[in-house]
Amino acid sequence: MFDRLPSALQHEGHLSRRLFLSYAAALSTIPLLGQTAGSAKKVTFSSNPFSMGVASGDPDHHSVILWTRLAPKPLEAAGGMPDHPVEVFWEISEDDSFKKPVSSGKVNATSALGFSVHIEASDLKPDHWYFYRFQSGGATSVIGRTRTMPLPEANPEKLRFAVTSCQHWEQGLFTAYQEMKKDNPDFVFHLGDYIYEYAAGKGGNVRRHLGPEIETLDHYRLRYCQYRTDADLQAMHAACPWFLTWDDHEVDNNYANDISEQRDVTPAQLLLRRANAYQAYYEMMPLRPSSMPQGPNMQLYRKGNFGKLADFFVLDTRQYRSNQPNNDGRGPLNEAALNPRNTLLGEGQRKWLFDSLESSTGTWNILAQQVMMALVDRNTKGDTAAYSMDQWPDYAAERQKLLEHIRDHKVSNTVVLTGDIHSNWANELRIDDRKDDRPTLATEFVTTSLTSGGNGSAKAFDLSDRNPCNKFHNRERGYIMCDVTSKTYTADYMVINEVTKPGGVTTSRAKFVVEAGKPLIHPA
Ligand code: FE
Ligand code: CA
Repeated sequence: MFDRLPSALQHEGHLSRRLFLSYAAALSTIPLLGQTAGSAKKVTFSSNPFSMGVASGDPDHHSVILWTRLAPKPLEAAGGMPDHPVEVFWEISEDDSFKKPVSSGKVNATSALGFSVHIEASDLKPDHWYFYRFQSGGATSVIGRTRTMPLPEANPEKLRFAVTSCQHWEQGLFTAYQEMKKDNPDFVFHLGDYIYEYAAGKGGNVRRHLGPEIETLDHYRLRYCQYRTDADLQAMHAACPWFLTWDDHEVDNNYANDISEQRDVTPAQLLLRRANAYQAYYEMMPLRPSSMPQGPNMQLYRKGNFGKLADFFVLDTRQYRSNQPNNDGRGPLNEAALNPRNTLLGEGQRKWLFDSLESSTGTWNILAQQVMMALVDRNTKGDTAAYSMDQWPDYAAERQKLLEHIRDHKVSNTVVLTGDIHSNWANELRIDDRKDDRPTLATEFVTTSLTSGGNGSAKAFDLSDRNPCNKFHNRERGYIMCDVTSKTYTADYMVINEVTKPGGVTTSRAKFVVEAGKPLIHPA
């Protein structure tokens, strides 16, 4: 597909007008969500069409998105679906017998959106758990469980949520979701690397990707379907709502906006790939229609709240960022890294975030995002400092602006949640983390990978001498479970002893607490 791209579209760095128009034309073929069931034909399925399970997400105090996808043969082209719309019935109920559903309806699943279904169930009670399910062609889905948030003006006593990221299919089993489910969180934050784009590995792995490195819409769809066949992942999606955001591997390793790490890929080529990737992501996730992609653009940053206890801001640090100025993996905080023109958030998202933080009334302000914000020098030997150049250090001026904003507007109790790095970290954040005599303004809890990297190690790099901001570091696999009250924020680092074989056991490795009003990390 890419070699047929007209050279006129191979524009430097930005979406050309012609490319934009071609996306606009493609967009017009995507049907509106929630359209009525007029043109569907009757269908019967030879195998369970709900092989992808169910999911819910992005709840507010009166509504939640319910999701499923028809795929009787999830690992075949088009999921084994016929080439015409298929009617799907949905219902949501206060009990799992569905004797008195509070709401129900019918929609058409269509090939244009991979036979995915996104229902906005609304007029629900605040702070309430519900059950939901789908039916089509005589088949019924499993029952999902979901909840709404408390009223914005309510003062809920407590909130529990899990934080996860980086679930490489080939490198481990998703066993840790079993323990997460037992702990019964109100919701899950997934911070990206939900899939990896790479071709099937060369053996020695726990299980194999299907096919080559993914670039086409069909390949991205297939990859998501392969991951979602995992029973533990399906069960966790069915257990509570999720708030998801992506990192790089949902498209291409370390991409920045329209720039690929591979030097022979033009921005126009990367944008075409990004459009495929974003559409497949939207189709697979329980996202609101406001996140529906338009060609290579998709609004994923958004906010929510759990009464007045917590406001949260789900960020997208991939789509709008400027290119990594020091593109060599690691390096010093040099002039390139400190250039105020570098941006991870992009101007629009930055303004939205700054305005939202300024007007927030939440006791806790939680930033759910991708890459590590602490300025951690990761050089274990020698004198030259080495900061990761795909993370906030390479965008140090914008990072500094954000922390100054938090200080100047007295944003209360800011907690940054991070994935990407495949290791656990607990960090105290200053305007410049290298200067530990300056006040701490926020805290950061970085979750390790669920599986990426295979079985990890409890042995950490010895970085504490160089990094007084860092209070904990560990390289095992797992996730974080957070408990929030008006007085404390507790982060429990859950680790699993085995991801390469079934039967891994998940336990608490370390637990930290932040008291409201004092952004310092203490052992709990
Ligand atoms: Fe990752
Ligand atoms: Ca990543």
